[in-house]
Amino acid sequence: MSQKKNVLLISRNSHKEAKLLFGLTAGRCEFFGCNKNLLKHHITGDAGNFADMGHIYAFSKNGPRGKAKGRPKKDYEIDSLDNLILLCKEDHHEIDKVRPQDFSVAKLRSYKKIHEDRIQKQTDAGEQDSSHVLKMAATVSNQADVISEPSVREAIAPLWKCNDTANDIQLANIDCETASGLETARETIKNSIIDFQRKVKDDQAQSVSIFAIGPIYLLTFLGSQLSNQVKTHFYNKSRNHLKPWQWTKRGTGVKFKVENVQKGSNKGKVALVLSVSGKVNESGYTNVADDSFYIYEISSSNMTPGRELLKSVTDLESFRSVYRDVLEKLIREHPDVKSLHVFPAVPAAIAVTLGFDLLQKVHPKLVMYDYMRNRGGFIKKLVI
Ligand SMILES: [Zn+2]
Repeated sequence: MSQKKNVLLISRNSHKEAKLLFGLTAGRCEFFGCNKNLLKHHITGDAGNFADMGHIYAFSKNGPRGKAKGRPKKDYEIDSLDNLILLCKEDHHEIDKVRPQDFSVAKLRSYKKIHEDRIQKQTDAGEQDSSHVLKMAATVSNQADVISEPSVREAIAPLWKCNDTANDIQLANIDCETASGLETARETIKNSIIDFQRKVKDDQAQSVSIFAIGPIYLLTFLGSQLSNQVKTHFYNKSRNHLKPWQWTKRGTGVKFKVENVQKGSNKGKVALVLSVSGKVNESGYTNVADDSFYIYEISSSNMTPGRELLKSVTDLESFRSVYRDVLEKLIREHPDVKSLHVFPAVPAAIAVTLGFDLLQKVHPKLVMYDYMRNRGGFIKKLVI
């Protein structure tokens, strides 16, 4: 598009279409991954209009994508909202001048749709829909992971983050395999949560959102430290690389059941086996839970164990309600039990809720075990 046409376009469009486009894009560049604020100078910060309005089908037949199939015939259609994309100068130049062959109509339309959908979703939320975000990333088998900011924002939408002050529990450099490392991790989690709860209280936050990865026993400990006085949203990391933390609407429809897999000789000894992300083999825990134990197992009633069983909040809730039933059953049928020995193969969100749903004054303590392949079974890690 020539400079002259650009000027003409803006004067022609300076009313309705331009206003709509600025509104729908929130004045930000729609090029995928750019999102530059075009209503403020990137260096001086001065307010102004630094946007270009690009055409998806060029205004002229000889311009970029001007000969592509489906180009509208009439001028007013070319200048319609559907055919306009808000861009920063650099990206406009890239698309129309540097390598127009790389930017098809379909590609630009997808940029426009992704950006405008996102703006819509984020701004649908009102003041009351804010949430405090807590992130914890502990090392599992020497593999450190990070929880990226954009993925968090994406996952909590239409809620929005209360503030940008990081609420991160820093555990990346702690080796939880050692007793002293584990103690440091516990202290760090405990103190970080005290700080976090204080912030939540000061801000009178409506809800908190938890993003956590790490060994199961540490996640359960994290859950046990959280207050159930505030509405709490739990998230789970999936293998979807683009939207790793996002719950889906439909979920997998997984259902859970509890079975009494062993009636022991002593009602005061109870173990809970959790076969969710994998099937827990009996041989892994019989060294601890011998014939004297009552053993209960929670597993899915309609799916085989696997890493991707949880895809929605409903999927998670369906586990939690069975787990809470087990805790209630313990009070009724095993009134003398002081500790519940837990052998878990569960996704992170479940691990956190194991601690969160435990009422410390009512329920027995959780003795958390960790499966260690090289030791051939479960090893006791933590009492919660
Ligand atoms: Zn841009």
